[in-house]
Amino acid sequence: MTSNSAKRDLRVVVMGAGMAGILSAIKLREAGFGSVTVYEKAAPRGRHLAGEYLPRPDL
Ligand SMILES: Cc1cc2nc3c(=O)[nH]c(=O)nc-3n(C[C@H](O)[C@H](O)[C@H](O)COP(=O)(O)OP(=O)(O)OC[C@H]3O[C@@H](n4cnc5c(N)ncnc54)[C@H](O)[C@@H]3O)c2cc1C
Repeated sequence: MTSNSAKRDLRVVVMGAGMAGILSAIKLREAGFGSVTVYEKAAPRGRHLAGEYLPRPDL
């Protein structure tokens, strides 16, 4: 089991800001991990769906 201070000090990286990545990051923070960074390879534009970015109708 990871101690509370080890959890606070450990830097955790989650790859992908899909449903699984975002929920993992939330759960890791709730579990006491102090540093959780989510990396996403797709460009931040449009609407996210299953790893794809769909163009926004107003773009
Ligand atoms: C056409 C379509 C319609 C759907 N409609 C619905 C629906 O109506 N309702 C529903 O509940 N589900 C729907 N789904 C299913 C749902 O979208 C998926 O089940 C869900 O998105 C899976 O989430 P995930 O986090 O596992 O993967 P993803 O959503 O694919 O997230 C993975 C993320 O990781 C990123 N990534 C990949 N490689 C890297 C890397 N090397 N570095 C950094 N980031 C990376 C990707 O860009 C992506 O953003 C649909 C799927 C499709 C294809």
